Amino acid sequence: LDLRSEDFSELDELGRGNGGTVCKVLHVRTKTVMAKKTIHVDANLNVRKQIMREMQFMHDCNSKHIVSFYGAYMNGGDILICMEYMDVGSLDKIYKKNGPIPMDVLKKITYAIVDGLIYLYDNHRIIHRDLKPSNVLVNSQGQIKICDFGVSGQLNKNSVADTFVGTSSYMSPERILGSPYSVKSDVWSLGITLMELALGRFPFPPDGGSLAIFELLQHIVHEPVPTLPDGKFPANFQDFVSKCVAKDVTARATPSELMKHPYLVSSLTEKVDLEKWAQSQAR
Ligand code: ATP
Ligand code: MG
Repeated sequence: LDLRSEDFSELDELGRGNGGTVCKVLHVRTKTVMAKKTIHVDANLNVRKQIMREMQFMHDCNSKHIVSFYGAYMNGGDILICMEYMDVGSLDKIYKKNGPIPMDVLKKITYAIVDGLIYLYDNHRIIHRDLKPSNVLVNSQGQIKICDFGVSGQLNKNSVADTFVGTSSYMSPERILGSPYSVKSDVWSLGITLMELALGRFPFPPDGGSLAIFELLQHIVHEPVPTLPDGKFPANFQDFVSKCVAKDVTARATPSELMKHPYLVSSLTEKVDLEKWAQSQAR
């Protein structure tokens, strides 16, 4: 199905990030509500066409923990990405509005993210590269899905996208120091994300102050990793997070190792009413 600007009617603006704007839209002919992300790509037509080609594999991404892709098209210097609309929204908005995510729900969220990362890597050799609370989405059926992964090598090298995908406060120490991404960089970002969702605030710096981005990145590289307050969280959660935020890459877990950690193994037998939780968080 070919998507074109004329076929959409705009319903709402969902948010703006560094790379672009996301709108809730109706694809009129098929009566499908979608989330449409506009990314301005400051590159020549051949590069934009290559980005479009590289995004085609997203049609083959079928996992219940990955946001589905309807298609993408170009309009002038913009690339428009149409994806599944997640009506409860992203985890950053949820915790900022309603406080820290409860531990039982957070365990299910962790399972979904780790399963999604393993799916992308094992089936498509894709590293997420931009995992953070705003890229984990929830719908009112209680489903949890990740989005905005590093689909296009070109898109990641592109000046607009790269400046921002490249510099994020969820970046691992080795990334800040300029090493290439590995799937373990995603695991670091997962650890920081989990701390943020459990605490209800970004964990750097530990005293809760704020730092400019350069100082923040320096802090991440040179200072010890912040720890969760003792006794407030289950021991297996503490241990799981510490396996994610090991500064030394060789000591850090891979996503498959995380899946075997007692924290996630225990999630398989626990019943949590995610639908009820999600509906209680609705925008
Ligand atoms: P950054 O640009 O640094 O990645 P971001 O993830 O917040 O930050 P966008 O990816 O542009 O920026 O998304 C903007 C907001 O739109 C998100 O915070 C999220 O709340 C909302 N959003 C994005 N995709 C969807 C979607 N598929 N369904 C519902 N809401 C979405
Ligand atoms: Mg995003």
